Amino acid sequence: MAIPTRSAASCRNLVGLGRTALAAEMAAFGAEPFRARQLWHWIYHRGATDFAAMTSLSKVFRERLATRYELCRPLVSRTLTSIDGTRKWLLRFPDAQEVETVHIPEEDRGTLCVSSQVGCTLTCSFCHTGTQRLVRNLAAAEIVAQVMIARDALGEWPSPQHDRQVTNIVLMGMGEPLFNYENVAEALKIVMDPEGLSISRRKITLSTAGVVPMIRRCGAELGVNLAVSLHAVRDDVRDRLVPLNRKYPIAELLEACRTYPGASNARRITFEYVMLKGVNDSPADARELVRLLAGIPAKVNLIPFNPWPGAPYECCSEPVIEAFSDIVFAAGYSAPVRTPRGRDILAACGQLKSASVRPCKSDGEPLSAA
Ligand code: SAH
Repeated sequence: MAIPTRSAASCRNLVGLGRTALAAEMAAFGAEPFRARQLWHWIYHRGATDFAAMTSLSKVFRERLATRYELCRPLVSRTLTSIDGTRKWLLRFPDAQEVETVHIPEEDRGTLCVSSQVGCTLTCSFCHTGTQRLVRNLAAAEIVAQVMIARDALGEWPSPQHDRQVTNIVLMGMGEPLFNYENVAEALKIVMDPEGLSISRRKITLSTAGVVPMIRRCGAELGVNLAVSLHAVRDDVRDRLVPLNRKYPIAELLEACRTYPGASNARRITFEYVMLKGVNDSPADARELVRLLAGIPAKVNLIPFNPWPGAPYECCSEPVIEAFSDIVFAAGYSAPVRTPRGRDILAACGQLKSASVRPCKSDGEPLSAA
């Protein structure tokens, strides 16, 4: 059956509402509180897209619901599958804005990379998404919908207890999640709810370029794993790569990591480090990284630079990456080199960019017809 995607003007979409909002909506509709709990189960555990399928509700009530509400997903305007099995969905919202969501299957897990904004304001100089203007924050419902669309496509309803294809979620898609904290938090609470999508906070990682004042709140309120896009060990270099560094320099960022609620040896903070030829890849950089991380339960993720059209950087050679990794590893930190996934469909780190967004002048790309 086709999944409904378009809003009828007079109907409110229930998919993406949190517990409180759904309960309030049902109360206003004159339904008893347990109805909201039943709906929750159908929407987030069973993935229902049609009131008629909700067989634990009376037929009369189902019909009444259908007169006022709908159960919709954003439109999937394009699906691409990489030769390595990575899948990328381009989602289109009713205002024609688009974002990308990526599923990365591995032997023992499946990671869903979720976007938090349309475009990004950060302008990191090595990131493709950064060449795209920020158009807007995603609503909580639009963030949750990315998980639900993956579940639809992978046939994962009702939420399985075992052998899931979406085991982990990383907020590493388009956007800076800590610049859209309220909506991200609301969405993650829905995603983590054990009676629904039921993905544990231990399996969720939020990645930030370093919005220092929001880091503590994220740890205290959500308790998810933290990843930090560090990428450089000196402020002058990081200022160029991640301009947010001018506001929150390395020392402040690392202090926020040192005191991140919930970080421990069992739950380390991930430091992402993109390997850029001749920019941040020397053995001295690796040694400085080790010095900076002292006292932080940390692991380092070395990301070979993923090229995109017009990028002003190159990836380092494998021996250079290996030498860097060896120094970090010898100091007692795990420092795996992340195998690029989905490069052929521009789904790898930093390659996401939805064509519907007006490109910057320097970009030279045509506007899409959207
Ligand atoms: N704004 C958040 C979330 C984006 S995560 C953040 O900065 O953490 C995307 C990750 O991919 C970040 O670590 C980002 O720095 C990295 N990245 C961006 N462009 C890349 C590229 N071209 N090659 C490899 N990694 C890249």
